Amino acid sequence: MAAKRVTIIGAGVAGLVAAYELERLGHQVDVLEGHPEIGGRIRTHRFLPGRPGPLVELGAMRIPAAHERTMGYLRTLGLADQLQEFTTLFQDEAAYVHTSQGHQRIREASATLVEELSSRLPAAELSCYSPEMLLFGAWMAVRVNALAPGDFRDAVSHGLDAELMGLVAGIDLSRYTGTSGSAELIDLRALFADHPQIRAGCRGRLYRFVDDIVNETGSTLLRLRGGLDQLVHRLRKRIRGPVHCGNEVTGLEVGSRQVRLRIRHGFGTRTRACDFVLCTIPFSVLRGLELHGLDDEKMAAIGSQRYWNATKVALHCREPFWECDGIRGGGSFTGGLIRQTYYPPVEGDPRLGAALLASYTIGRDADQLGSLSRPTRIAAVLEELGAVHPELRRPGMVLAVADQVWGSEPSTQGAAAVRWGKDAVACDEERDRMARPQGRLFFAGEHCSSYPAWIEGAVESAQQAVRQIHRYPASALEADEPCEVGA
Ligand SMILES: Cc1cc2nc3c(=O)[nH]c(=O)nc-3n(C[C@H](O)[C@H](O)[C@H](O)COP(=O)(O)OP(=O)(O)OC[C@H]3O[C@@H](n4cnc5c(N)ncnc54)[C@H](O)[C@@H]3O)c2cc1C
Repeated sequence: MAAKRVTIIGAGVAGLVAAYELERLGHQVDVLEGHPEIGGRIRTHRFLPGRPGPLVELGAMRIPAAHERTMGYLRTLGLADQLQEFTTLFQDEAAYVHTSQGHQRIREASATLVEELSSRLPAAELSCYSPEMLLFGAWMAVRVNALAPGDFRDAVSHGLDAELMGLVAGIDLSRYTGTSGSAELIDLRALFADHPQIRAGCRGRLYRFVDDIVNETGSTLLRLRGGLDQLVHRLRKRIRGPVHCGNEVTGLEVGSRQVRLRIRHGFGTRTRACDFVLCTIPFSVLRGLELHGLDDEKMAAIGSQRYWNATKVALHCREPFWECDGIRGGGSFTGGLIRQTYYPPVEGDPRLGAALLASYTIGRDADQLGSLSRPTRIAAVLEELGAVHPELRRPGMVLAVADQVWGSEPSTQGAAAVRWGKDAVACDEERDRMARPQGRLFFAGEHCSSYPAWIEGAVESAQQAVRQIHRYPASALEADEPCEVGA
């Protein structure tokens, strides 16, 4: 098969995987990246660059072990040895959960959460549920509360408790309940692992959502010691073609034999005619570009893809004070403005301090925190989290702050495409609309996949686009030589 020349827009994981795979198939690639750095929504922040100090993931931070494509690349790139368990929200029983009684230790919160659930259920329904089902419902409801953004929580709240408990009707839950001290807890990880039908049984509005909740809290999650950005840097090293950072595509015109790109670099703009283009730009950004030659249906798809915001605020702390409080890792559902707090393991030289992901919010909650000025945002996070962890108020405890508001990051204008609240058929149709090529212009990125908001989705979409480009009929290959115009 004749080698093709492919220009890839975007050096996030989708663009880099596509470049790597296209070269393996004998094609020639070059990559245009608008940002000064590669990686896109994989963004590892090092508090002390060049020193073995703490780091924090401001973008993606964990990989479900079941995400086979992502795991495959980590193995191929020699990173498997650096994978370690990611302890997530609610996993460390010493961490906190926000309840009607204030912040309670997870191991002490069951009774309050069951009481809260019981008070929401109609009295006539209450007797239909066993104590184990109520315990399951209470801990699922708090996960929804912790993980779903405000607008989605509101949209699905009606009848949600009964719907969630309906998922485990007929399952003997007593095997998964146990006591910790005087409180009863339920092992949702074991329950979901033993009963995959719970996840498979989710239809309608809960289809993708419950899948993500199970991924988040019920399956084995992994982190990459040394930073997830090693994935993109290792990929970059394997690609022979050039990756041009700081080259922002500002316009795109699809012709019958070429795709013309308008590219801004520094103060200059040039136009380039390309044989094939693979566009991995999030549609939240793409719809702001000058686009010509795309059909109406595609323009509608680009215009309609919804994105959620995410905001992260991380602290460089003098020491991992939470360990003295008995917390060995995982996360707290802190509620309020800050929502979720994670305690990553200490990496590097412990004398250089520790990273704390003080706040992780998505959707409306992220908009709210993200809309504050940076000093106000940081002050709000320190104020709220200081009430849970007063150690933060000690002089010299917080050495530095790093934050990222993905909704106002020009290169993404959002954190992830949203398919929650849609059933399986609607999700598949939307994916196909987003991924549909236009002549010699192809599309990839998490928004074009079956796993939006995951690295796995970006990888799946890249592999799919590579197959499409590779199979593009040789008979149609009569393109002009690629040329650069203007400066
Ligand atoms: C806060 C947050 C937490 C997440 N957590 C997880 C997690 O724990 N696990 C997980 O698997 N996934 C997670 N994700 C999702 C995961 O990060 C993404 O799905 C994945 O990285 C997307 O890759 P991509 O290549 O599709 O897009 P991107 O990474 O966004 O890449 C697109 C690239 O295009 C570039 N670009 C944009 N506009 C232009 C232009 N005009 N010209 C040239 N280049 C341009 C961008 O700079 C970017 O580099 C998270 C995402 C966020 C934001």
